[in-house]
This record gives sequence, C-alpha cells and structure tokens, in this order.
Amino acid sequence: MHEWALAESVIKTAVEHSGLKKLKKLKEAGVVFGELQAIDKEIFIFALDGLRGEHPAAKDCRFKVTVEPAVFRCKACAKEFPLKGLKKTKDEAEFIHFVPEMAHTFLKCPRCKSPDFEITAGRGVGLSYIKGSK
Ligand SMILES: [Zn+2]
Repeated sequence: MHEWALAESVIKTAVEHSGLKKLKKLKEAGVVFGELQAIDKEIFIFALDGLRGEHPAAKDCRFKVTVEPAVFRCKACAKEFPLKGLKKTKDEAEFIHFVPEMAHTFLKCPRCKSPDFEITAGRGVGLSYIKGSK
C-alpha cells in the first residue's frame, strides 16, 4: 500500500528538484531506501513506473532504486554493527523491518552486549541524485 504513496512523493520531489535545477526533462533519478523501511522493492519500482507518466517532466525518467543497509551504533562503546549477521529469528527480523524501534528489544551490541544503541543508517527514503536535460 504505502509503496504507492512513497513512489508518488519520490516522483514529486524529483520533479521539484528538476525545476530548481532548471531541467525540463528528467532522465534518471537515484532513489535510496533503508533496509529497515518496510518497503517491497518490486512493488515500489512498479509504482514508480506506473506513476511517472502523470508528471510530464518525469515520464521518461528511469528510477534506479538501491537499498541502504542498516547500521547501528552502540551508545556504550561506539561500535558500529549491521543488521546482517546478528542472531535473530525470522519473526524478529520481520518485526524489525516494520517497527525499527523494536530493534532495541531484539538486538544487542556484539562487542559489549549493551542494548543501548542508535540507528545511524537504513531508515527512510530519499533521492541520491537526479539527471536530466534543459
Ligand atoms: Zn557496545
């Protein structure tokens, strides 16, 4: 569901930025979304393709979607660690994807075992670049 809403706001943002850069047509845009963001990449790309035609400046734009891996940083010892490689059940992994705040219930720092950490990467959706013609 929210893949479509996100795709719409990504396209709108890309069109706005192309206006600021005085680009008439968008050719390519880089879209990054975090591993912890509960997005189905296939649906998201499908939604971008389906919606871009509604924006004249974006109708020929290719959206290159990449996933940013999640990174956590321990507040106790400053160790940074990824989501991958940590022991958790599939249910827990699903839970974390839907509610990143729940990571604190399941994850611990691999060095000092502290459950007190912050999420430094892997959340949110953004544009990394746009290319177009004037
Ligand atoms: Zn630590």
